[in-house]
Amino acid sequence: MAESYEGGCLCGAIRFRAAGAPRFVAHCHCQSCRRQVGGVIATFAGYAVKDVEWTKGHPGVYASSPGVTRSFCKNCGTPLAYESEKRPGDIDLFLGAFDEPGKLPARSHVWTEARVPWFHADEHLPMHLRSGLED
Ligand SMILES: [Zn+2]
Ligand SMILES: [Zn+2]
Repeated sequence: MAESYEGGCLCGAIRFRAAGAPRFVAHCHCQSCRRQVGGVIATFAGYAVKDVEWTKGHPGVYASSPGVTRSFCKNCGTPLAYESEKRPGDIDLFLGAFDEPGKLPARSHVWTEARVPWFHADEHLPMHLRSGLED
């Protein structure tokens, strides 16, 4: 069977499958991500939209800033995805929603200019002050 990864929200209303290996897995320290997930970082797995299938339910969408949408479960609130017009055709899935996030270790940090100073993890990974992706 081809490589794929599944996940879903806390209540089970939303399920997804991502085909293949993610293009990147990154810890994002930006304030918008922190607020969306209610944590000090958000970790993403980057995919092409065409490689991600919502296998159960459809997430709600919130436009958090111009050109940026963030998806979540309308029932339980679990954060699920980030999409930006700066990277059309891409979707970043929140790694914490995957069934087996341990299989997809982070490879970098982004938006470290906004990091919470006492939080330390994966300090050996490449660090980008801002996005590190579309810059
Ligand atoms: Zn849910
Ligand atoms: Zn972020």
